[in-house]
Parts: sequence; C-alpha cells; structure tokens
Amino acid sequence: MLNQIKGLHHVTSMAADARQNNTFFTDTLGLRRVKKTVNFDSPDVYHLYYGDETGTPGTVMTYFPFPDIGRGRPGTGEVGTTVLSVPVGSLGFWQERLTKKGVTGLKADETFGEKRLEFAGPDGDGFALVEVRDDSRAPWTGNGVGADQAIRGFHSVAMRLRDEGATVELMKFMGYQELDRKDGVTRLIMPDGNDAKFIDLETMPNTNRGLQGAGSVHHVAFAVDNRATQLEVRKALMDTGYQVTPVIDRDYFWAIYFRTPGGVLFEVATNEPGFDRDEDTAHLGEGLMLPQQHKHLRPILAQTLQKLEG
Ligand code: ZN
Repeated sequence: MLNQIKGLHHVTSMAADARQNNTFFTDTLGLRRVKKTVNFDSPDVYHLYYGDETGTPGTVMTYFPFPDIGRGRPGTGEVGTTVLSVPVGSLGFWQERLTKKGVTGLKADETFGEKRLEFAGPDGDGFALVEVRDDSRAPWTGNGVGADQAIRGFHSVAMRLRDEGATVELMKFMGYQELDRKDGVTRLIMPDGNDAKFIDLETMPNTNRGLQGAGSVHHVAFAVDNRATQLEVRKALMDTGYQVTPVIDRDYFWAIYFRTPGGVLFEVATNEPGFDRDEDTAHLGEGLMLPQQHKHLRPILAQTLQKLEG
C-alpha cells in the first residue's frame, strides 16, 4: 500500500465558453483565478485555474474551455460531482447568492451527516458545497464572499461507477481507507492527507458510460509532495499492472496519468513547484502565461483567445 498520496491535487473539466467559465468561478463562487495559460497540446485553448490565494493543492479547479463543444452526457466512468468545503452555517448564504446569480440545479440535502447544497456549473457540471467543521485552510475572500462563507477547497469528488469493486481496491492501494457506506455510496478517506481527503464512489450498475463534453470532468489529480515520491507511486502502480504515462512537466507541477478500472482518468501531480513560479503571488492569474514551446505564439494568441473580462 502506498503512503505518498496526500488527497486531491486538482480537478480538470471542460467548458464551452471561457468568459462564462471565468465569471462563474471568480464572481459567483468567489475563487481566485491563479493561472491563465493555454492547453499544452492545443495552445489555441485556454487552461484556466481557480483556487485559493496561491492555488494550494487540494483547492484547484481547472478548465479547458473548448469554444462551442457540445455538452457532455453524464454517465458512469467519470466524476459526477465535485464537492467544495464551506464553513458550517454558510449554506443559507450560498443558497441565496447562487439563486440571485441565476445558478441552476440547486438542491439542499444531507449525506453522511453533512449538510450540502448541490448546484450546476455553467455547462451542467455537477457541483456541491458541503459544510465542514474545522477545515484549517485559509479562505480567499472578495467579490462579496467573506471568511465565514468562502470556499476552502475540495472536500471530495464523487465518481459514478457501474461496479466499484476494482476502484475500491485501487483507492485502498493508493492509501485511502473505507469510512462509511450509505445508499449505494462508499466513502473513503485519506487518513494523513490534506483537507481534500474524501472520495465517494457511487455504484450505478444500470447507467451507461458518460460521454465527455462541456461540463464533464476530464480527470482528477491526486497530490504527492515531490518528484521523488511521484516516481515511487509510478513504479508501484506499474508493478501492479497499471499503464502509467512518463512524467510530464506541466510547468506548475509534474504529472503522471493512468486510466482506472472504473473508466476514470487519474493523475498524480506534485505539490512542487506551484503557481508562483512565474508570477508574484500578488498578481497570480492576471497575465497570460505560456509554456516555453508556445511562447512564440503570444502575438497570435493575444489576438485570438477570448477576452475573459472587460
Ligand atoms: Zn491535471
């Protein structure tokens, strides 16, 4: 069993409109945009990162806005709900705020003894806020969201699976422990991880596989401290029979990827070097940062990429 994984690192999804995506995560949810860059493989598409002040692993929601892609069809083999932690007593504020801002899919419920508010992102993305006591993470405030309400980062992701068996085994191999089971959902916890430490597995044996598109989670990334522990994880996964990519430099972290038995794409990402490697913390996310191999495209991209604000 591995002991290098520390919980969630980031979640990456797809969107249809960059400007709408940016407005939703900054103005509506009150997160900080910590990086404005482009997709390594298609530099004409943004890669936008939202999180806390510095983009601490476990707080970072990232998006590829592909202009005008069709909506995804929700199903199994993917993350269905991305769950964000908010302070106890704040859901009333959020219900009112999200309603006022025209957010759809609002539904208050309770799972595993926690109060939560489900809502949909701009492309029907499945999200929920859950009230968490004693989340030690510092809030990013502003845009009318105060410290008593602000999102602290991820609480969990919920994956939809036709059969959870092999994924439960994998999560345990990665260091997660089973915490509870209720209504077809298995909750796992990373005992010595960061605050983004829960995973829910929803078994839906009669549901078709999802079709990826706008509003779909593309992959979920788990955090390791550094490159050395990432290599240990990579070797252990390969020794177990997983096909894992080589280590890829993503500028703000190093990444490896592998497809899980339930169909969900996993990444293991390093906590180093972080989002302040090419911008001051005070100005994170403001400028267009380009990967080395795409720097020559700046004059074109400055013209063609959609303006996010103004
Ligand atoms: Zn990623």
